[in-house]
Amino acid sequence: MAADRRIVIENCSIATVDAHDTEYADGYVVIVGNRVESLGAGRAPEGLENVVRRIDATGHLVTPGLVNTHHHYYQWITRGLATDHNLFNWLVALYPTWARIDEPMVYAAAQGSLAMMARGGVTTAMDHHYVFPRDSGDLSGAIIRAARETGVRFTLARGSMDRSEKDGGLPPDFAVETLEGALTATEATVKEHHDPSFDAMTQVAVAPCSPFSVSTELLREGAELARRLGVRLHTHGSETVEEEQFCKELFGMGPTDYFESTGWLGEDVWMAHCVHMNDSDIAAFARTKTGVAHCPSSNARLAAGIARVPDMLAAGVPVGLGVDGTASNESGELHTELRNALLINRLGAHKEAALNARQALRLGTYGGAQVLGRASQIGSLEPGKLADLVLWKLDTLAHASIADPVTALVFGAAAPVTASFVNGRQIVEAGRLLHVDEDAIARATRAEAQRLAQLAGR
Ligand SMILES: [Zn+2]
Repeated sequence: MAADRRIVIENCSIATVDAHDTEYADGYVVIVGNRVESLGAGRAPEGLENVVRRIDATGHLVTPGLVNTHHHYYQWITRGLATDHNLFNWLVALYPTWARIDEPMVYAAAQGSLAMMARGGVTTAMDHHYVFPRDSGDLSGAIIRAARETGVRFTLARGSMDRSEKDGGLPPDFAVETLEGALTATEATVKEHHDPSFDAMTQVAVAPCSPFSVSTELLREGAELARRLGVRLHTHGSETVEEEQFCKELFGMGPTDYFESTGWLGEDVWMAHCVHMNDSDIAAFARTKTGVAHCPSSNARLAAGIARVPDMLAAGVPVGLGVDGTASNESGELHTELRNALLINRLGAHKEAALNARQALRLGTYGGAQVLGRASQIGSLEPGKLADLVLWKLDTLAHASIADPVTALVFGAAAPVTASFVNGRQIVEAGRLLHVDEDAIARATRAEAQRLAQLAGR
């Protein structure tokens, strides 16, 4: 899009999710090029030049696009398996299948994962990919290609595993890389794909999988590599009681202390789950500004527990939301996680005061931007920030009788997306993806899921 082309969106409610939670009951947004130029109450200013499109958004709420902070796209073709398992039993059941993935499978699974999220209002997606079977092709390249085709902004967390069963880890020996191999491939991926610029569409993070599948050396040297290259760090942390026991037995300390000892607390780090955190763990995250990807549905699906999100927020820990892999959250949607985060946290210690609708929306937008290190660029609607935004249709049967639009979005059914913009470019129109063929993707994912099942002998 030419830098001076304007799109005007009018007659909508707006939740900006800025520092003051500014909202407009009836307002406008002007996009110029890939940025938000202006927004406010009432009609757009008169006399704007180069207006290529004017959208009457009556009946809609406009919010910043949703930001997903934790996912494993390849799991799209292993959904609905090991449905009554805790984390460790689920992993052990699925590793042998996952170890058979190849490039066409990973590409189709990424397309499916991305399509599901994008049509539900995600504008910045991420994939933590950590299964790299030998000779399986260019998996990172395939994932990035799928993200580019869908049109979303994207962070690839280049994962790795090097602690297999023979070293006391959980994955089978054939599912892991060597320490050297993982570090070399991760560095190459950063150099090939990471864009540090303000309006980057693709970024890469260094992301060894978890304490129970990665050596201490890979954690330590991975952190050094990320800091040398100036990229972020991501992993799983404190997900289950079993992980805590594993860390205490092997390292003589809990997960947070173990992460601190390997260089894994810091404002350039975000960690998925963080369910089993005591007060001093939360204080350590707050002190170091380590981010958290809260994945409420996955935590419920695997009976991991309830993360202490209200305590984290009160302490000043940056918290975003994550779908997590779709083998542990089959819906694959992020907008439903706004509601699930609110509901599940109310089952915890803070009861009905745990989270409100606006805090839930903030987790899914600005909070996600914070943990991805992009809060100056995305996550709220403010002049000068990137034009990543969603028009939620709230005037149909599902929501029309709820007066407050943010309450309707978070408490109500999953709202239809009339339009979604990323970097000023529209990627969704009336709930359909504009740049990829959703039906073709559905067929491809089914075929690749069947091929994988056959290869794995299921
Ligand atoms: Zn995960």
